[in-house]
Amino acid sequence: MKILTHLAAMAVLAGSAHGLQDREITFENTELRGGIIMISTGMGGNLGLFMGEDGLLLIDDLLPGTGPLVEAAIAEIAGEGVPRFILNTHWHGDHIGANPHFHEAGSTIATHHNIRTRILEADDEWIQDEGYLPLLTFGSDLHFHMNGETVRAIHVPAAHTDGDAIVHFETADVIHMGDVLFSGLFPFVDLQSGGTVEGFVAAMETGYAMAGSDTQIIPGHGPLSTREDIQASIDMVRATQAIITPMVEAGMSLDDVLAAEPLADYHDDWNWGFICTPRMVATLYHDAAGTADGHPLATSCD
Ligand SMILES: [Zn+2]
Repeated sequence: MKILTHLAAMAVLAGSAHGLQDREITFENTELRGGIIMISTGMGGNLGLFMGEDGLLLIDDLLPGTGPLVEAAIAEIAGEGVPRFILNTHWHGDHIGANPHFHEAGSTIATHHNIRTRILEADDEWIQDEGYLPLLTFGSDLHFHMNGETVRAIHVPAAHTDGDAIVHFETADVIHMGDVLFSGLFPFVDLQSGGTVEGFVAAMETGYAMAGSDTQIIPGHGPLSTREDIQASIDMVRATQAIITPMVEAGMSLDDVLAAEPLADYHDDWNWGFICTPRMVATLYHDAAGTADGHPLATSCD
């Protein structure tokens, strides 16, 4: 079942940094098993909402300044808009953006330890607000026992960042992968936030192993997925890595590798606006080369 919620324009606090000023957001809500709703907007990470008699648990909370709209969208679904708990799957702005709004409203925010550290140490202007900080942090895992469900968040190290969590709703058999799954899309591996290609693949393998053939999988970005979509992403990253790594070992520069268009065969299936094919090349190049200051987003999509 899909429910479309259309909410009006708003002034976004940190909008200029995210190109969101006065934009409308359409919330597309997909009802999964066990009182879990996947919320997609097409302009940031996918949210997971879990409803029941013990209250709301929200997995990730969209871009800075979107708090009032996220609250309104949740209220339309659940009758109340402020989650009892929020779990951030990692520290990127399109997954923690409404933390200050919900912190102020009384939600308790939980994250991996490294996310709190990243937020405290970040220089970026948008994140200079104590409301982003989690009140609870965890190491290897955290379990929520609520709404008749065991919700298990496990840390997957050095993957998309150094603070990623995969969230498994065990009875409902629903998984939120955070940004260790860009379903059908070239992934962003944030090498400067502690991400690595090896850890990214290992995290996808962990998610695959947690899933069964019928598991409903919410990716950080992309449509509702199955474990076959995880496998397709694993296969693509392995195959593209096997193309780029020998070029790095042969001593080629990033410019020379880009000029050779080595991932042309993957472009039509995996290219998208944020991680275009040249940025996927750059990701694999910097990861293999161990380029300390290499950043995939420094490569142009043109
Ligand atoms: Zn991310």
